[in-house]
Amino acid sequence: MKLSNRQQIGYVRKLETMGMVDGPGIRTIAFLSGCPLRCLFCHNPDMWKTDEKDKTTVDELVNKLKRYKPYYGETGGVTFCGGEPLNQPDFLYEAMKACKEEGIHTVLDTSGFGRPDKFDDILSVTDLILYDIKGLEDKKYRDMTGVPIETTHIFLEKAQEKNVTIWIRIVIVPGYHDNYEYMDDLAEYIAPLNNIERIELLPYHTMGVNKYDDINMEYPLDGVPAMNHDITMEMQEYLIQEVEKIRNTNIN
Ligand code: SF4
Repeated sequence: MKLSNRQQIGYVRKLETMGMVDGPGIRTIAFLSGCPLRCLFCHNPDMWKTDEKDKTTVDELVNKLKRYKPYYGETGGVTFCGGEPLNQPDFLYEAMKACKEEGIHTVLDTSGFGRPDKFDDILSVTDLILYDIKGLEDKKYRDMTGVPIETTHIFLEKAQEKNVTIWIRIVIVPGYHDNYEYMDDLAEYIAPLNNIERIELLPYHTMGVNKYDDINMEYPLDGVPAMNHDITMEMQEYLIQEVEKIRNTNIN
């Protein structure tokens, strides 16, 4: 395999160290700036655009990531998130490839929206995907994110072909997702998938609303309350059980 191109230029807003929730073990989180989606519940609108200040090379990034290697241990590593990291496919690929060359575990936190011709390469250097499901039906998906759903299906198919392990993450917004009909649809969607190691429901929160003032934008979900944590956990339990039920029915 060709060595990674460490002079590839990309845009990274910040690194967070000692992350414990975005993948296994202790991780450094690399926030790649830029996102073509406009999720109504986005609490990082400041990440939508890239900035010249974010400019870096793979070499510079990986040299920083390597410093934290002693903390990664057996299970930790680097999580690439955004924005939407697939928005910088060449940089993402080269950066993850360079991590693999350095023996660093790679996680990709993504909606699956990107350029399908780049998916194979990126998935070949991805150890684990945190896959954000933002809806299941095209019209609702577009209303929620501003982009069509089809590309995300292609991404998921490719991830299945390549046997990449997946943790599914689903934000639950009151009035949009907090119903058991949606949980049933999700169960039907998730049950046939392979390599699903975890299913997590995340309650919508209103932190980040102030960031919309900073970019002179009205908050799209103004007035929508934060999602109740306990109800979200009940829904998560229900969803996991339904997925198991469907899988068991299909085996018997
Ligand atoms: S994909 Fe993430 S960063 Fe982009 S709009 Fe949606 S929530 Fe915000």
